[in-house]
Amino acid sequence: VSGVITIPVVVHVLYSNSNENISSAQIQSQIDVLNEDYRRLNGDANQVPNEFASVASDIEVEFVMATTDPNGNPTSGITRKSTSRTSWGTNDDMKKTSQGGVAPWDASRYLNMWVCNIGGGILGYAQFPGGSLATDGVVMSPQYFGSADKGTGFFLSAPFNKGRTATHEVGHWLNLRHIWGDGGCNVDDFVTDTPVSGNPNYGCPNYPTNSCSATGNDMTMNYMDYVDDACMYMFSAGQKNRMRALFDTGGFREGFVN
Ligand code: ZN
Ligand code: CA
Repeated sequence: VSGVITIPVVVHVLYSNSNENISSAQIQSQIDVLNEDYRRLNGDANQVPNEFASVASDIEVEFVMATTDPNGNPTSGITRKSTSRTSWGTNDDMKKTSQGGVAPWDASRYLNMWVCNIGGGILGYAQFPGGSLATDGVVMSPQYFGSADKGTGFFLSAPFNKGRTATHEVGHWLNLRHIWGDGGCNVDDFVTDTPVSGNPNYGCPNYPTNSCSATGNDMTMNYMDYVDDACMYMFSAGQKNRMRALFDTGGFREGFVN
């Protein structure tokens, strides 16, 4: 498919205290970051080193808060539920009404994002394409959802307070693997223009960083590494192709373009 793809988003907020019940402005700040990062309109795009500048890409995917719910009624694209549960883990309970969670809206037409305290130091997690639609989407802990650069009074925690966790998790939702392929120098991420790297990078690495000397410098500034929010600012052309293939006829996310 060619041209800009628009993804309607519904955010399900599950909160056990007022901090976790993040504001609509904080939610919108996250949508704004997604739109910058997936259109390569991010203010730090110019920090990409020359070595990688030619592959840094505009993914041509945009995100909008849903304006119509699955029943055809107007919506803000936000659902809110008060709960006594203070942490949710990673077993998808937040997606199940039977477990006190909130069921997804039709995941073939909406990107569902659950915002709830995951616990265990986990910032967010996503389901890859190909799984059950009943659990399809992205889960984020509230203190990593949104950007402190785009408002005040937000409930956010540095150095993951610039909205890049959701950029990363939506990358998984769009079929991207971690830049190091979750293995050593013999494991790839199925994208040819991201150099093989042997391990995740953390913090804010110096350039150049090279974990597998035979295969070139690590693309540490890629959204699919594990660096701090301030130190990730690009997707590659190969990642773009891999993501966008999902929207072709017969692709797992073709429902978003029909
Ligand atoms: Zn990841
Ligand atoms: Ca690669």
